Amino acid sequence: MNWIKRLAPGIKALLSPLKKRLGEGEKSLWKNCSCGKLTLKDDFKKNLFECPHCFKTHLISCRQRFNIFFDNSDYTIIDYGSPPDDPSKWTDPRGKYVDRLKAARKKTGENETMLFATGLLNGMQCTVGAMDFSFFGGSVSPAVGECFLSGAEHSIKNKQPMILFATSGGMRMESGSILSLQQMVRMTIACQELKKNKIPFILCAGGHVMGGTTASVSSLADILISESKEFLWGFSGKRIIEQNLREKLGKEVQTSAWVFEHGGLDKIVPRKDLRSEIYNILSILLKVKEKEINNTSNVASNNKPLQAS
Ligand SMILES: [Zn+2]
Repeated sequence: MNWIKRLAPGIKALLSPLKKRLGEGEKSLWKNCSCGKLTLKDDFKKNLFECPHCFKTHLISCRQRFNIFFDNSDYTIIDYGSPPDDPSKWTDPRGKYVDRLKAARKKTGENETMLFATGLLNGMQCTVGAMDFSFFGGSVSPAVGECFLSGAEHSIKNKQPMILFATSGGMRMESGSILSLQQMVRMTIACQELKKNKIPFILCAGGHVMGGTTASVSSLADILISESKEFLWGFSGKRIIEQNLREKLGKEVQTSAWVFEHGGLDKIVPRKDLRSEIYNILSILLKVKEKEINNTSNVASNNKPLQAS
C-alpha cells in the first residue's frame, strides 16, 4: 500500500486544475474562464476576449473595447473636463465615497466607468462610448453623465453617428442620490438632441444593463443590441420582482435572449460580428450606400462622353 501513498500526491497534483499547478510567472500568461478551462492571454485577446472553449463573452475595459472596435485600434479620447469627484461629500457605513473612488481608479487605471472616443469604423468616422463594469459596477455618477453629454455633443457637432457599449448597474447613489438621478434626465436630453439632429445612436449591451441606465439612455437609442444572450437587461433586479410578485421567475427572465424574444431588444450580435453589423446598420441609417450608388452612377455618366468618343 506504501507505493499508492507515495504516488497519491503526484496523481492529485495531476488532477488538480492547471492554474493551481502553474507558477506565478506562468499564471500571468493564462486567462481563466468560469468553465474551468485556461486560454493563453494572447489567444484570448485574438479571440476578442471570448472563451474559445465555452464561447463565454467576457467583460472588457473601455480601452480594450476601443482597441477591438476601431479600425487599426486607432482612436482619440474625447475630453470631458474635470467634474468634481464628490460634491455631496458622501459617507456611508462602508466608508467615504471618495476613498472608494480612489480604490476603483487604482484598480482600473481609469478616472471613471465611462470613456468616449472618436475614430473610424470601416472608414466611417464615429463617436463611440464604452463602460467598464469593474469600475463601481458601471454605475452612473455626475462625472459619467458629463462624459455622456460630451460624447453626444461631439457627435452632433461633428455629425458622427454615436455608439455606446453599455454595462451598468444603474445610478451611483454614493455620488449623491439626487445628483446621480439627475443624470438620467441629462442623458435623456442628450438623446433627444441626437434625435433632433438626426444623428443615429446605437446602444450595445457589453455586459449587464440594469436600473436607471435601462430606464434612461439604454431605452432611448435608435437600435438596441446585446453582444451576448446571457447579459441581463432590465430595471429592477429579479429578486425584487420575485418578492413583489411572490412567485419564482424562470431562470431565463431578464437575459438578453429573453428580452429579445419579448421585443425589448432589436438584435443579439456576437462580438466578432459587431463591427460589420454596426457598420451595416449605420450605412443604412446614414444612407451611405445610397450615396455610394449615386457616386458610382455619376462616374458612369462621366464616362459616357469618353465611350461616345
Ligand atoms: Zn470558458
